[in-house]
Amino acid sequence: MSDEKVIIIGAGLAGSLLSIYLAKRGIEVEVYEARADMRNVEMSAGRSINLALSDRGIKALSEVGMDEYMLREAVPMYGRLVHDAEGNTNLLPYSGREGEYINSVSRGGLNIALIDEADKHPESRFFFEQRCVDFDCRSGEALIFNEKNGDEYRVSGSTVIATDGAGSAVRRAMLRGGVRRFNYSQEFLEHGYKELSIPPGDGGAFRMEKNALHIWARRSFMMIALPNFDGSYTCTLFLAHKGENSFESIDTGSYSGGSPGNALITFFEDQFPDAIPMIGNLEREYFTNPTGDLGTIKCFPWNAGDRALLLGDSAHAVVPFYGQGMNASFEDCRIFNELIDEFGTDWLKVFEKYSELRKVNTDAIADMAVENFYEMRDAVADPVFVRKRELETKLEQRYPDYFSKYSMVTFREDLPYSEAMRRGNAQDRILMEICAGEADVSKIDTAKVLERLRSLG
Ligand SMILES: Cc1cc2nc3c(=O)[nH]c(=O)nc-3n(C[C@H](O)[C@H](O)[C@H](O)COP(=O)(O)OP(=O)(O)OC[C@H]3O[C@@H](n4cnc5c(N)ncnc54)[C@H](O)[C@@H]3O)c2cc1C
Repeated sequence: MSDEKVIIIGAGLAGSLLSIYLAKRGIEVEVYEARADMRNVEMSAGRSINLALSDRGIKALSEVGMDEYMLREAVPMYGRLVHDAEGNTNLLPYSGREGEYINSVSRGGLNIALIDEADKHPESRFFFEQRCVDFDCRSGEALIFNEKNGDEYRVSGSTVIATDGAGSAVRRAMLRGGVRRFNYSQEFLEHGYKELSIPPGDGGAFRMEKNALHIWARRSFMMIALPNFDGSYTCTLFLAHKGENSFESIDTGSYSGGSPGNALITFFEDQFPDAIPMIGNLEREYFTNPTGDLGTIKCFPWNAGDRALLLGDSAHAVVPFYGQGMNASFEDCRIFNELIDEFGTDWLKVFEKYSELRKVNTDAIADMAVENFYEMRDAVADPVFVRKRELETKLEQRYPDYFSKYSMVTFREDLPYSEAMRRGNAQDRILMEICAGEADVSKIDTAKVLERLRSLG
């Protein structure tokens, strides 16, 4: 064991994975988590039950030997299955290449598996129901509130890594003067989200296509559903908070001019008729489950000298429309670990290099995630976009070295997000232009298209 002791705040997805990376190096780790140990309590319903795990996340899991375990528990999703208002469906594959798909995994299952794995190492210790309430950026001490008995105490080590998510207490301390010239922005979408569920059919059967991400795109709003291992689906309804077709229009009953319950049913009958018979108890779930906000958080610098580093959502919360928040956070852990190879435990050097490498990339995925919201909501219902996806799929089938922007983000863990964005945006402009001018994709000469795309560099 080394004589370093790292304090991690938050045993979510990033904190738990990071604790494994560090413990495997023989570094002592103490992880302070505000919530109770999720291995012993029921997860609260309605908060992002499943997640899309893709290559960047898998790469990091594989480095700690957890990829195969997780993929055994995952449901592969080969494309977006679009449901129109009449209940017709159309599959838009994620890639034209075999073996490129995303995986629906249980958030709780993955988090528990990571904590269990970390627990195998004597170097890592978890302290649950211990909430960080403040952080001293000079001394590096975290003030911890014991949720069980109300005690407060301070902890410190060689350094602190804050993986306490979008509402980070450590980031708050950095913002409140702990770090000079700390830049911070938080931008909410006008849309929020609510989770609903489709229970399994008889004998655990899947009631819709199992291996797809289902999407009901209705231009100003949408619903998606991801399959779970047990035959159920978790649906997420994305609606504006206010205005026409909004949570408010349902919650006040103004959508149909009746009671909220009536407005809800009418809204679903109008918009998602094929989903109604499948959703377990629409009214109970809708009115019981919380409505979440969706926002992007950017900040910089991410470190308070060598005292603390923000990592994962605490540094860069993104909206969920590229399915990359967790994947990016896992990639954070992988890059962080690589930098320890280079700089050892010279934390200042590690933090500064890490920030330099990651900031440009997490900004890129944050921006692409917002763009993808509009793509999922509007574009999958737009014929030019549908043709563009068809053309991209053809290109990927015919030319193994062609990657769409989505593929570069999702399946190319070797390519930084910023590079995927640069190349992807340039490709998209050309492909949209071609597809706007030709209604029949079979008439498009793919060799010529590829030549144009290759000339982009
Ligand atoms: C609706 C939705 C869908 C999503 N879908 C996807 C997806 O499909 N794919 C994907 O890659 N990403 C997805 N994400 C993003 C993903 O959930 C996050 O990026 C990921 O959870 C970030 O991990 P984290 O460990 O940084 O933060 P979190 O997972 O939020 O973990 C933070 C941990 O810190 C603890 N904590 C908080 N405050 C304190 C404190 N003061 N003291 C101690 N502990 C504290 C929390 O209890 C929690 O355990 C989605 C997000 C949402 C909201």
